[in-house]
Amino acid sequence: MDKAETRNQRHKRAMQRKKTHIDGRIAAATIDKGLMVVLTGDGKGKSSSAFGMLARSVGHGLRCGVIQFIKGVWECGEQMLFEDNPLVVFHVMNTGFTWETQDREKDIAAATASWEKADALLTDAKIDVVILDELTYMLTYGYLDKAMVLTALENRPPAQHVIVTGRNASKELLAMADTVTELKASKHAFDAGVKVQKGIDY
Ligand code: ATP
Ligand code: MG
Repeated sequence: MDKAETRNQRHKRAMQRKKTHIDGRIAAATIDKGLMVVLTGDGKGKSSSAFGMLARSVGHGLRCGVIQFIKGVWECGEQMLFEDNPLVVFHVMNTGFTWETQDREKDIAAATASWEKADALLTDAKIDVVILDELTYMLTYGYLDKAMVLTALENRPPAQHVIVTGRNASKELLAMADTVTELKASKHAFDAGVKVQKGIDY
């Protein structure tokens, strides 16, 4: 038997073992429920991951709601793509970054108004997927009451998925979530002086 054939046979055995293992895990996963997904950490990819799930959901004909708690300075591609889609309710908080407004009272009023929209989605069983983009900052800055937010998330319709993004997600959010991904900034072009790029950053 030549060397390549032995290697092919070893590969086939390894793949058979892997398939048995994966098939077993797939068979054991029988629960169907609305998930809470938290995307946190200082690495790039939190909001874009959430909007990737929005694209998937819309592709499947699911009804979705998006609340963006911090408005960027640039017109986001995801907003332009989804805001007129009949399956998507899209609301952007009407202030800029909180370090730009520098007006706590105004930020609190805007956060409260946006939360009312979020709360309406979280109590509507017809909405399949809710994205609360940059919600974590509303809690770290104390713009929204943490207990109020946690209660609404906890009491949402059982089949409804909710995706929360933002740095420094609180321990309560992490504990409540079914899936948590912490994105780590290993390298970011901005640190090398590269300005924001259309399509990649916004
Ligand atoms: P994205 O929207 O690209 O998925 P994000 O949601 O993970 O990014 P945010 O903290 O919300 O990150 O910041 C949004 C903007 O800041 C994006 O333009 C993104 O490229 C940029 N950004 C994200 N992480 C970093 C970082 N570590 N250093 C510098 N800029 C960053
Ligand atoms: Mg983001």
